[in-house]
Amino acid sequence: MKTDTDNSADSDSSNFIHNMIAEDVANGKHQGLVATRFPPEPNGYLHIGHAKSICLNFGMAKEFGGWTNLRFDDTNPDKESEEYMSAIKRDVEWLGFSWKSLCYASDYFDQLYDFAVALVKKGAAYVDSLSADEIREYRGTLKAPGKDSPYRNRTVDENLNLLEGMKNGDFDEGEHVLRLKIDMASSNINLRDPAIYRIKKTHHYRTGDKWNIYPLYDYTHCLSDAIEGITHSLCTLEFEDHRPLYNWVLEQTQPAGRPEQTEFGPLNLEYTVLSKRRLIQLVQSGVVDGWDDPRLPTISGLRRRGFTPASLIEFCKRIGVTKSAAVIEMQVLENTIREELNESAPRRMAVLDPLKVVITDWPTDHVQALEVANHPNQPEAGNRTINFTRELYIERSDFEEVPPPKFKRLVPDGEVRLRSGYVIKCDEIIKDADGNIVELHCSHDADTLGKKPEGRKVKGVVHWVSASDSVQASVRIYDRLFNRENPMAEEDFMDALNPDSLSIFEHAQVEPNLASASPETRFQFERQGYFVADLDTSEAHPVFNRVVALRDTWAK
Ligand code: ATP
Ligand code: MG
Repeated sequence: MKTDTDNSADSDSSNFIHNMIAEDVANGKHQGLVATRFPPEPNGYLHIGHAKSICLNFGMAKEFGGWTNLRFDDTNPDKESEEYMSAIKRDVEWLGFSWKSLCYASDYFDQLYDFAVALVKKGAAYVDSLSADEIREYRGTLKAPGKDSPYRNRTVDENLNLLEGMKNGDFDEGEHVLRLKIDMASSNINLRDPAIYRIKKTHHYRTGDKWNIYPLYDYTHCLSDAIEGITHSLCTLEFEDHRPLYNWVLEQTQPAGRPEQTEFGPLNLEYTVLSKRRLIQLVQSGVVDGWDDPRLPTISGLRRRGFTPASLIEFCKRIGVTKSAAVIEMQVLENTIREELNESAPRRMAVLDPLKVVITDWPTDHVQALEVANHPNQPEAGNRTINFTRELYIERSDFEEVPPPKFKRLVPDGEVRLRSGYVIKCDEIIKDADGNIVELHCSHDADTLGKKPEGRKVKGVVHWVSASDSVQASVRIYDRLFNRENPMAEEDFMDALNPDSLSIFEHAQVEPNLASASPETRFQFERQGYFVADLDTSEAHPVFNRVVALRDTWAK
């Protein structure tokens, strides 16, 4: 499905979840409270899909005067880490959201265990001792019902003893699991006696070595929601078939809170992958340069790429919330930041691939300071000075010795305007012994500063910087990370990687004021696109990343 960005202005306020919550509030359900949570598993960095969930959860609570918890679903210590937790907190805060409480599923391990004991006591859970393979076999298929485990009818006492033993570390991993006793013949496989505890003798970064068993997601999630007093548990579509289980557990355990689960369509983006599992592969294989590589759809990658919180929130608003999964075009994301920066970014000049131009009729040491507006239609953005000198740089691609048809920039004996400067004419091409062009000798028309040239038209305008009054910088230009619209359709998604997703211009020359740009300040480099000063930028070695080109380069 492609989104139409034109009619989506109010999509965030008219989506089905919004309507449902508004109705609940109007009916006084949950005492009119809207309490939500964002529940990431800290097993990787957040991506733009999570931003959708964050905007929805925090957005709904805020709109209806409620609150949102940030909860780490930290039940799988093998894959989780504190690095991921701090990255997640940083990203949520950077997006501009504040949580009421910072929660951890692991804080509820004691309560979850007590609930499990209660379930065993009422005959709603049992310890199974089949092997993992046997359990899979007994589970049946979508077409065939499962069959009961021979251990399903253990007595309550036997189950309690075994569960206690599991907890105390008396058994090896895989020896037993605790399962809910629901229905092995259910048409919903999630209800065929799902396991809720497994033995895992892993150190947990928060609970240490206290636990030899860890609760599984379906059991942990609904109870964590209930313990925190969540009213609306919003999650992605793949949990729709788990909802009966979510409700079953609450029904049987009767915790104080009674959250309700509602599913919405996850975000998918063309030309990238949104799954922590895949993102980890990209990071660990070194294909990209860390979790905040500007080519990644992670929130920290998009941040380093130069996206603002406002642009990501606007993106989430434009894509809206629907019941079905949507595949969104990359343009929708890029348009939000392009539109924002068109308004807000000061203009500068930067030459990525410099070709020297000598103005032969300009006195050697003469420096003319030109007053140039920082923004074409925002006088309040002020002016800056740029120096016009005898030696300049223009973009190598703005000169063609043998121009293709309709080429409007500099050609032998042709004229071009230097943006905010003079019209110059190319008189001579200087080449090295191998025939490479090393510089151009040009003359200028002194009567063309801020004025049209007399008696002729000069169509082309090129950007430039002074050779003596500019600084060298690295400029990184990014392209799509994958060559295919849906990398996951390939046998191995890594085969769909675009080998040219990063081009680095190490010898760019930029206006001198850009050397002191602090990280995360954004500019338009005239004719080149929008750029952000990278985290690694310094006065000695300025570094800029291209956020997006000036125009949509994705149009097919
Ligand atoms: P991943 O597959 O990327 O690891 P996940 O769903 O396992 O995603 P969690 O950390 O469990 O990641 O997700 C936290 C919350 O973010 C969940 O409520 C989940 O539904 C939501 N979420 C994850 N991916 C998306 C997505 N692509 N679009 C919208 N919401 C998402
Ligand atoms: Mg998950």
